[in-house]
Amino acid sequence: EQDGEEAREIAKYLPYFPFKGIPRFYDIGGFLEKPEVFQHIVDIFVKRYEEIGIDSVAGLDARGFILGPPIALALKKPFIMMRKQGKMPNSISSQEYDTEYGKRSGLTVQRDKVKKGDRVLIIDDLVATGGTLSSAVNLVHMLGGTVVECACVVELKMFIDPSEESGLPSRTKLFKS
Ligand code: 5GP
Repeated sequence: EQDGEEAREIAKYLPYFPFKGIPRFYDIGGFLEKPEVFQHIVDIFVKRYEEIGIDSVAGLDARGFILGPPIALALKKPFIMMRKQGKMPNSISSQEYDTEYGKRSGLTVQRDKVKKGDRVLIIDDLVATGGTLSSAVNLVHMLGGTVVECACVVELKMFIDPSEESGLPSRTKLFKS
């Protein structure tokens, strides 16, 4: 259930973090401190991607680095880091992108990690506007790979198709572009 007790266990709700203009921040520390909930989340993803079939798991800096590795290990597939700028040699960068919190410089990945035709699963903790995920999708495409799916634990639904008055960016529009 989206906003029930269980959801609150998974993502703790912190008001006014990281800064005052943001009404709420969902912290996945909620499940990291409960091994049985963390394991259950990993198992759900593992079951799904065992059935679908993938070649590698790409995790987004930084919380995708927590969720991605246990999933990759269980599937016996390579884990790929998609990092912020200036952290890895021999890497390519996607373009600057918009997020819930404003503009960010592109994500990066090492060139040899995705081969032409690879079926890549992208993992992050949370999707808001989808800006971060679409940047990761672009990186996979730049290297000739295919994105099987983007998988997150928390979805902020108010970004799917917000009203004009809310001033929030639309995830649907972003993915169409
Ligand atoms: P988006 O690019 O979809 O607008 O924002 C998603 C990215 O920002 C993810 O990498 C996610 O980790 C981070 N993010 C945005 N809002 C929140 C939040 O409320 N909680 C957490 N944990 N991460 C957030």
